[in-house]
Amino acid sequence: MSIEKKIQELREELRRHNHNYYVLDKPEIEDYVFDQKLKELQQLEAEHPEFYDASSPTLRVGGEVTKNFETVRHEYRMYSLDNSYSREDLEDWEKRIKKMVEGKVEYVCELKYDGASISLTYEDGKLVRAVTRGDGFQGDDVTNNVKTIRSIPLRLKGDYPAKFDIRGEIILPLVGFAEMNAARVEAGEEPYSNPRNTASGSLKLQDSAEVAKRPLDCLLYSIKGENLNFKTQFEGLEKARSWGFKVPEVAQVTASTEETLKFLEHWDEHRHDLPYETDGVVIKVNDLQQQEELGYTAKAPRWAMAYKFKTEQAETVLEKITYQVGRTGAITPVANLTPVQLAGTIVKRASLHNADQIEKLDIREGDSVFVEKGGEIIPKIVGVDFEKRNPKSEPTQYITNCPECDTPLVREEGEAQHYCPNDMGCPPQIIGRIQHFISRKAMDIEGLGGETVALLVNAGLIQNYADLYELKKEQLLPLERMAEKSADNLIKGIEASKAVPFERVLFALGIRYVGETVARKLAKEFRAIDALAEADAQRLTAVDEIGDRIAESVVGFFAEERNRELISRLKDYGLQLELDASVLENQTDKLKGQTFVISGVFEKISRSDLKKRIEDNGGKAAGSISAKTNYLVAGENMGPSKREKAEKLGISIISEDDFLGML
Ligand code: AMP
Ligand code: ZN
Repeated sequence: MSIEKKIQELREELRRHNHNYYVLDKPEIEDYVFDQKLKELQQLEAEHPEFYDASSPTLRVGGEVTKNFETVRHEYRMYSLDNSYSREDLEDWEKRIKKMVEGKVEYVCELKYDGASISLTYEDGKLVRAVTRGDGFQGDDVTNNVKTIRSIPLRLKGDYPAKFDIRGEIILPLVGFAEMNAARVEAGEEPYSNPRNTASGSLKLQDSAEVAKRPLDCLLYSIKGENLNFKTQFEGLEKARSWGFKVPEVAQVTASTEETLKFLEHWDEHRHDLPYETDGVVIKVNDLQQQEELGYTAKAPRWAMAYKFKTEQAETVLEKITYQVGRTGAITPVANLTPVQLAGTIVKRASLHNADQIEKLDIREGDSVFVEKGGEIIPKIVGVDFEKRNPKSEPTQYITNCPECDTPLVREEGEAQHYCPNDMGCPPQIIGRIQHFISRKAMDIEGLGGETVALLVNAGLIQNYADLYELKKEQLLPLERMAEKSADNLIKGIEASKAVPFERVLFALGIRYVGETVARKLAKEFRAIDALAEADAQRLTAVDEIGDRIAESVVGFFAEERNRELISRLKDYGLQLELDASVLENQTDKLKGQTFVISGVFEKISRSDLKKRIEDNGGKAAGSISAKTNYLVAGENMGPSKREKAEKLGISIISEDDFLGML
């Protein structure tokens, strides 16, 4: 087969798998097989740049950088939608329509997805441009970024028109959003406030490789073009789906406002079961000919109407604003509320984010406030009921000193958060840092929990994580609830932590912005703490994915004499502050999150080596098959009952060659 043909076949195959996985949610092959094929294609393309194709699946990983987003005029204006809030509004709208068009009118009800609107232009079945809505007449060209969104086809199949625009909404599904935030919090960063803003912010990132990492999705709902091969909105949705677009199945044709209201009621109740946020329903006249007769007002089509769901809001009294100090010293204001029922739970606290937020909404203690549940678990305050405000109340004075140690707070330029700079003397910071140090993903010290840390600090036994290694059993015994046995376990756990590998020790140190992944990266790159400590910002940013902010934070950490002292003590106690070279060689996280069961005997590799390779590559080797097992590595003479069980649970059964191929 010629190279060109091979490349084309691989592209075609990967495209199909992408569609199965991201649009249909029905993968047909294992992730690792997909990754292998993608790598193969990447390599062939690198060796043969003459076969470049702007819609190759390899472009999904991003890498193109856009410095300035070019302004592009929309060929078809992107209108806004009129809003309705009641049955009467909808009945009025139906009456107006009936006056303007002849014959029977049918409607299509769709969900109103809450994200960033996008217009995609396709020519000859290829995605040529993606433009944000902008002011409706012109928007920004964000094609490079949009190409990384896996559910958007770069090439279409079926009977698509030669040229058309398709509109949709770029969204961040709730699970992906929560995961992104968990990772940020872990790295000591502020979480994003909601999925919609994060989705639209993502489109304007300069580095498309960053966009590729975000779990964005795109739901499509409208096609614009000449000579389209369908006559109704509903057929258009079906067509778009058949060409490869992700078009939610919930759309429904209704014949009257009566039926439309049923759809509304159903989704008002069930929208929280959806994996993404919606803020209402859009009702459209189904027939395209009738749509044309109805036309547009100055800002919106006459043939469509949005119906906004009532946001789940509750009004209650803000009793007191308190301030929390995190382990990095960041101050978070918290609203303590008179308990109130909201969307099925009782709410007592809400996040106020930062000083700007309080000032913007002019929130004061004693106010009656409106709370809402967004994509976040903690509800937020969206406004104040000013009519109920006590005329004598005064604007909130944000605290100027740390509520825990009274040190004057600082706020760095460009940052929303205030910080307590007294990191060595501020109790929640001292305790928080040690709690982070011992946590499961860091040193994972058995026998020591967060509360015990607080107890040890408050008893004056430790002031920093290095002090842990000086603890004696006799010091622990007088403590509350500390029996002989727990004291022993604690000391043993601390001792055992000396074997924890370097990358986790580095994460445990609690350097701001150095989360698990960054720590692993730095450990691999610098191999020893001394080399890292000597690196300047320039050397650090030369490392893949290390930006200015992380670099500054690392340099700042090692510039502090007392941090260097702590590290030198940790070294003396025997902690791992260098990578173990023998381990380093074969380690990856290729098998991260995967659980394997080994059974039978193997030709090329011993069972214990097999187990080690699984663990070295980030996987888990379990003893018996359960629903959590991903793969059964089957050797010679494997017990038939194991095979049966694996088959019953739908677990992939692979050979040793398959396994080695995964690495
Ligand atoms: P608004 O921004 O409130 O004027 O509402 C109009 C916006 O709703 C459009 O620009 C789209 O981005 C968005 N939208 C979300 N889902 C749909 C849908 N199913 N049909 C039409 N527009 C939608
Ligand atoms: Zn403080």
